[in-house]
Amino acid sequence: MEEETRTNDLARVLSGLRDYTVLDASETSDGLVVEVIASRLDAPCPVCKKVSDRVKSYRTSIVIDSHSHGRRCRLLVRRRAFRCVTAGCERKSFTEATSEVPYRARVTTRCRDQIGRAGRDRPTASVAAEFDVSWPTACKAIKTQAERVVSQRSKTPPRRLGIDETRFWWKVPWLTGLVDLDTGELVEVIE
Ligand SMILES: [Zn+2]
Repeated sequence: MEEETRTNDLARVLSGLRDYTVLDASETSDGLVVEVIASRLDAPCPVCKKVSDRVKSYRTSIVIDSHSHGRRCRLLVRRRAFRCVTAGCERKSFTEATSEVPYRARVTTRCRDQIGRAGRDRPTASVAAEFDVSWPTACKAIKTQAERVVSQRSKTPPRRLGIDETRFWWKVPWLTGLVDLDTGELVEVIE
């Protein structure tokens, strides 16, 4: 029993997933496949928010995760479908979701964030190939990350403004970049 607990703890540390228990792991020619299940045995209904532990069924989905120890990694997520316990609730049943693997996600949140960061200074196609996701998926993750960075920027106007020419690709014309000289932050790019 003590040995089993130790193995479970070790698997949790290696996976880096807070909300899941590792059930199994195997190596394939395409990388690592880690089978996981949510550690919590119940989940709140997305409509009425009442917590239910009445499992209706299980379904399995493949979710692309961040690389693990130099290998591509996929999660085989065993998702529970619960029956809602509130009489008259419009959702008779619902599938569990976590912040790490949201509802219907094909890519884990941490992997999506990583794709978004990688796309800041690299072509989208190269990032998509590295993480083995489609171009639209990579593009969406990069856009989300960029919007987050922009929304977190200081709203105070720059005290000193720098102007520079910049070009992102040789086929497009030169653009004018406006830079905050105190923070070094790119404020705006205009034609
Ligand atoms: Zn409900």
